[in-house]
Amino acid sequence: NDLSSLMDVSVNDVISACLSLGMFVSINQRLDAEAITIIADEFGFEVEFTKSDEEENETIQLDTPEELVPRAPIVTIMGHVDHGKTSLLDYIRTAKVTADEAGGITQHIGAYDVMTKDGNKIAFLDTPGHEAFTAMRARGAKITDVAIIVIAADDNVMPQTKEAINHAQVAGVPMIFAINKIDRPNSNPNKIKEELANMNLLVEEWGGKYQSQDISAKTGQGIDDLLEKVLLEAEILELKANPNKNAQGTVVEAALDKGRGYVSTVMVQAGTLKVGDIMLAGQHYGRVKAMFDHTGKKVKQAGPSTPVQVLGLSGAPQAGDIIKVYDTEREAREIANSREQIQREQSMRTKKHITLDEIGRRLAIGNFKELNIIIKGDVDGSVEALSDSLLKLSKDEVSVNIIHKGVGQISESDVLLASASDAIIIGFQVRPSTNAKRLAEQEEIEIRHYSIIYDAINQIKDAIEGMLEPEF
Ligand code: GDP
Repeated sequence: NDLSSLMDVSVNDVISACLSLGMFVSINQRLDAEAITIIADEFGFEVEFTKSDEEENETIQLDTPEELVPRAPIVTIMGHVDHGKTSLLDYIRTAKVTADEAGGITQHIGAYDVMTKDGNKIAFLDTPGHEAFTAMRARGAKITDVAIIVIAADDNVMPQTKEAINHAQVAGVPMIFAINKIDRPNSNPNKIKEELANMNLLVEEWGGKYQSQDISAKTGQGIDDLLEKVLLEAEILELKANPNKNAQGTVVEAALDKGRGYVSTVMVQAGTLKVGDIMLAGQHYGRVKAMFDHTGKKVKQAGPSTPVQVLGLSGAPQAGDIIKVYDTEREAREIANSREQIQREQSMRTKKHITLDEIGRRLAIGNFKELNIIIKGDVDGSVEALSDSLLKLSKDEVSVNIIHKGVGQISESDVLLASASDAIIIGFQVRPSTNAKRLAEQEEIEIRHYSIIYDAINQIKDAIEGMLEPEF
């Protein structure tokens, strides 16, 4: 309706143009930028996009260098199952509670912060594993500054270790290797470092650029040094935030508590969140009634890199939802309502993520530069062969990136990575797990199955040359 009045053509003409392009729309449908560009083009118009009010406000709030002060790093711990992620998080949480918290019972709220022996703060996301990390990233949240990759020294660099490394690299988050379980007699940290070196990840003590620390999550050996290395990494990143403004942050987890209503754990990333603030998270808003730290202690405010439990939202936001504070309840409510409406409409929209068929359309409007691919296969040989051949399809206009490859079933974590990176998944002689399949449908991730390498290469080649015949 809006588009038709802007172009001064009838709504029916716009709707039929949409239909002829395969978009089934109603008169009040919200269209995405791409669709608007294509349809306007049909009527001879060129579209120029300006910022929304919400985005305008963002730019106004840019901080000056003087307003920025250093903030603590926010750390995620990832690694293979049973290599000691939970043990490490537990050790740090219990061993490093600050003096005035001592004796307080720490509880799991999804995040906590600790003070190192030199009085520096570090915040940890208390949900180990790259699934949570990538799920948040898929929702647009950028919350992790440093990733600790835990590897058991009595084991090997395992598939999930590789996945975790991959996820951190794709996100551009610096990694520190924590080589764990060195209290075990059969542990061999050097073997792990060698395996890492074979993957082109040379650790610092061997002349490389990656920090690593031998630790025991059981005895605590090396953990102070590990935290020092986290701080060193943080120093290089020059992490800063302005504490003197309305809070911004990310929801880490949220739940409905029988006695207390909706309880959300929020990682404040900039500004300061205060009791009484009007907060918006995803589609939910409300006045902050009370806040607690991870020891259950009541707090009145929380500055950058501080996790807090917040009471007072109208519902449970999702992990990864961005939080912001508004001056009036009306503003927050309006944005919450419009987000709800957009989400409702978008869930009816056609394609959220890239598919091979979609490439031709994106090429036509000139906004297709990169094809991200995840390859899973039954044997290493075919995965490598396929990956090599697909990489060679890159050309000046379109580059092909293999953002992850591995042997085995297509997992939920593969789908999440695809969603976060707008990738397609190629299964060579392997299929997705039931959960992965369901998630792929929900996230609209294309999974292509092949049993002949040649077929896979040809189809991708045709697609990036805009020659793919749509499948019916
Ligand atoms: P996660 O799956 O990565 O979270 O691993 P967990 O933290 O659950 O640890 C898996 C097992 O390894 C548990 O039985 C731990 O007690 C044990 N474990 C973890 N870290 C160490 C360590 O440093 N030394 C020893 N000896 N055992 C450890």
